[in-house]
Amino acid sequence: MNRDECVTLLQRVACRDKRQPSAAMLATWCSAMTDIELGDAIEAMNYLDRTSTEFLMPKHVRDAVQVVVDKRTRGQRLSGQVATVRAIETTKESNRARRLRRIRECRGCDDHGRLLDGRFCSHDVEGL
Ligand SMILES: [Zn+2]
Repeated sequence: MNRDECVTLLQRVACRDKRQPSAAMLATWCSAMTDIELGDAIEAMNYLDRTSTEFLMPKHVRDAVQVVVDKRTRGQRLSGQVATVRAIETTKESNRARRLRRIRECRGCDDHGRLLDGRFCSHDVEGL
């Protein structure tokens, strides 16, 4: 985050413990937060408001950012897996529908796709 964003973060931190932000304090927080996104830091602050009564140092916020980012990544991975499972189910369903249609259209086998001798039909008789 940039300096302005760090001012926003420090104001947010100061809300918790009534500390008086100073230029030196801001410089310390800024140098500790250069690689952190403001949105992640605010999310981390929300998390810390729920889970901690500590007087916050930059390290606390950095650690909490790691927690919320990990949680988010895990959630995204999970929803990706759910989407994959749904896609597989959709494919299975359409494979099943295709198989049933071929059986229905085939003149060589029964409703279960079996020939008279019990073997599965390959439905090659279509069009004969
Ligand atoms: Zn058949």
